Amino acid sequence: MPSSPLPGKVFLVGGGPGDPDLLTVKAVRLLAAADVVVYDNLVSPAVLAHAPPQAQRIYVGKKAGKHALPQEEINQLLVELAREGKQVVRLKGGDPYIFGRGGEEAETLVAAGIPFEAVPGVTAAAGAAAYTGIPLTHRDHAQSCFLVTGHLKDESCNLDWPTLARAGQTLVIYMGLTSLPEISRQLIAHGMAADTPAACVRRATLPDQQVITGTITDLPAQVQAAGLKPPALLIIGRVVSLHTVLHPAAGTLGQES
Ligand code: SAH
Repeated sequence: MPSSPLPGKVFLVGGGPGDPDLLTVKAVRLLAAADVVVYDNLVSPAVLAHAPPQAQRIYVGKKAGKHALPQEEINQLLVELAREGKQVVRLKGGDPYIFGRGGEEAETLVAAGIPFEAVPGVTAAAGAAAYTGIPLTHRDHAQSCFLVTGHLKDESCNLDWPTLARAGQTLVIYMGLTSLPEISRQLIAHGMAADTPAACVRRATLPDQQVITGTITDLPAQVQAAGLKPPALLIIGRVVSLHTVLHPAAGTLGQES
């Protein structure tokens, strides 16, 4: 009877928001031991460089708004690689369990009986907060912080606008750039103060990070005028007003436009 190789293992690893210094020690260790790295488009080349030269690198990210590989095929690929006995690092931008579809991949691995481990990463919200000087829950301004998808075309996304429009909280909206005009309209229509501070942060933590600040009313026009493209986060709430005091140009971290 042919002997099948020992099952490998899949590590769902958060690669952080961009700055390679924000990788965890565990991510670096796992990358260095990887047989194969399956990565997507928000992963920096400098992060990928921690994998040994002989490790196989498989790109499965999006191109021009389309998935290079459909999610089901990514899930199956991970199962197949592990069945070949490989140590697989599934490297994702930010944190694997925050809008990263890591949960879906983990479900597939469990169903297939493949050992796996999730390794957290610095999510874009945390990276953007630190590198723009916007403390997301500064207690003078916010008692809670919502991480929200702004991908409004997704049928599963039916945002609770009355809840999101309330004062005393911070919204961090992932994938919200395209829908920003609609998000602005909805929040104001559901009672958010029209002068609520708002920011758009593009390529947070990277040397070419861009920050645009304004209000929930004028941010869409400002973002359009600046021609900002994804990946970008929206941060909405009074905490954004702290940016002018705390932004890293006043200290030593990062850069901004
Ligand atoms: N798992 C990732 C999020 C994946 S969804 C995480 O935890 O960060 C992809 C979205 O994340 C992008 O559309 C953008 O809204 C946001 N994003 C990821 N990296 C970013 C960065 N460096 N700067 C700004 N937004 C980023």
